[in-house]
Amino acid sequence: MAAGLAAALSAQGHSSEGLNRAVIFIGPPGAGKGTQAKEVARHYGVPHLSTGDMFREHVSRGTPLGRQAKPLMDSGALVPDSIVLGMVEERIARPDCARGFVLDGFPRTEPQAEGLAALLEKRGFRDPVVVHFVVDDGLLLRRLTGRRVCKVGGENYNIYDRPPKVPGRCDNDGGELLQRPDDREEVVAPRLQAYERQTFPLIAYYRAHGVLQDVDATGPVDDVARRVMEVLRKAR
Ligand SMILES: [Zn+2]
Repeated sequence: MAAGLAAALSAQGHSSEGLNRAVIFIGPPGAGKGTQAKEVARHYGVPHLSTGDMFREHVSRGTPLGRQAKPLMDSGALVPDSIVLGMVEERIARPDCARGFVLDGFPRTEPQAEGLAALLEKRGFRDPVVVHFVVDDGLLLRRLTGRRVCKVGGENYNIYDRPPKVPGRCDNDGGELLQRPDDREEVVAPRLQAYERQTFPLIAYYRAHGVLQDVDATGPVDDVARRVMEVLRKAR
C-alpha cells in the first residue's frame, strides 16, 4: 500500500469505533477500490470480503456450494445468483462479521443487490453504505493502458503518471518493462464499457434507496482514502 495511507487513515482517529455496517464498494476496474476496501477493513478491524475469495474457499473445502460452483467456474459459465448469495449468507453469518464488513466487487447486479438486502435484514444490519468510486473514463484508460511491469523484479510503472527514467527499462534493475495483455487498450476499453452497462442499473438502484455515496476517486491514494473515511464517518 502507499506509504502515507495508513497514516492518513489513523489520523482520522476513530479506529477504535466499530463500523457496525455493511459497506459496499462499487467502482470500475482501475479505480483503486480494492486497495481502499482492504485499508478501510483493516482500519475498522472488520473483514474485507470478496466473492472470489469465498469461491476459492468453498471449492477448496469441497462444500456443497463449492461443488456446485466449481464445474461452472471451470467451464467459464456464470455462477447463478443463488450460489453467490448462498456463499455471502454463510460468510456474513460468521462471528467476525458481527461488527460490519466491507464487500468488494459484490453485488454486481440489481437482483444481487436485492438478494443482499434480504440477507442484511435477516442478520439485523441497517441499510448498507454504498461507496461509489467515480473516475473519469479518460483517466481510467490512462491508468490501465499506461501500466508497465518489470520483467525482472515486478516493479510497477505507468508511462504517463510514473514513467521510468529510461523508457522501457526498470529504474531498479534495468529489467524490461512489459504491458500485461489485459492492459492493452483493445481489452481495457470494452471492459470499461461492459462495466458501465452492467453497473448502471445497480447504481440507480442504490441511489433510489438513498444509500449511494459518490466519492471522487481521482488523485493520490491517500486523498481518496480521506474522502472515503469522511463518507463513512458521516454515514454512521
Ligand atoms: Zn525491475
